Amino acid sequence: MSVPGLSAALAGFVPRRALGVRAPLGPGAVSQVLRLPERQQKGLMFPLQELERCMVPEANAKLHVRTFDPSLEDIARAEASFCPAPRHRIDYISSAERLDHAPAPSRPEVCFIGRSNVGKSSLIKALFSLAPEVQVRVSKKPGHTKKMNFFQVGKYFTLVDMPGYGFKAPKDFVDMVEAYLKERPNLTRTFLLVDGVVGIQKADSIAIEMCEEFSVPYVMVLTKIDKVSKGYLAKQVLQIQKFVDTQTQGCFPQLFLVSSVTYSGIHLLRCFLAHITGNLHINSS
Ligand code: GDP
Repeated sequence: MSVPGLSAALAGFVPRRALGVRAPLGPGAVSQVLRLPERQQKGLMFPLQELERCMVPEANAKLHVRTFDPSLEDIARAEASFCPAPRHRIDYISSAERLDHAPAPSRPEVCFIGRSNVGKSSLIKALFSLAPEVQVRVSKKPGHTKKMNFFQVGKYFTLVDMPGYGFKAPKDFVDMVEAYLKERPNLTRTFLLVDGVVGIQKADSIAIEMCEEFSVPYVMVLTKIDKVSKGYLAKQVLQIQKFVDTQTQGCFPQLFLVSSVTYSGIHLLRCFLAHITGNLHINSS
């Protein structure tokens, strides 16, 4: 292992010890990535930085890759939040069709929204891969009631899987999401998923407009990045980055790139989640 201090982080930084968790080895674990050659490690941990290296300097200066810039040690420490332990339960809590059926807003909360098929369930499964017993429910059959699904990450935070939308989102769906975004008092950040293969679609603008209108701070996450070439991805990223910089107020300037198949970007996203919910202090941000 070539990163100084990282072995200490993996052997059990204070939070992991406090929770009684050992360094995990399963798919999606930092320790798994560190078995790869250094170049490959970086590509998996920091996909946007990797992309930056293929761009001309004028283009890559626009990518905001250093806005959230944790070290590998930070990323390893953040993993403790996603490892279940007797005193740190990671689990599905409940589903709700209406905001007044949602669990009590006792912890910071993050929600994931996106078009149907954008890769939302796959991403949530990848984030929870160190807690494989967590059931990420999928209700895709037409006619089935769409619900918000709540997951607890110990006492750290709640993660909400919002129903997927299409271009003609039904009114009851818009009402549910609108009420949630507008009124949920503990909502810390909304993660808006955009398909890395097709980019921002008309249906995505409905969600973007909602976040903008209600001044909900949100973050754009590009999914399925393993499905496209680096050149295509670079073009897509620059286009979306331009949109974020020029057309939005509440969107976090840095894009997050993920693949739920290769786990690229998953560790960085876990670290960001731990950080914004107040469970990980990072010196550089
Ligand atoms: P959801 O409707 O947003 O929950 O989307 P799913 O997670 O069910 O994914 C929709 C389709 O995209 C499924 O066939 C997944 O296997 C596929 N998919 C999701 N994420 C990825 C990814 O990161 N890479 C690839 N190659 N396929 C993905």
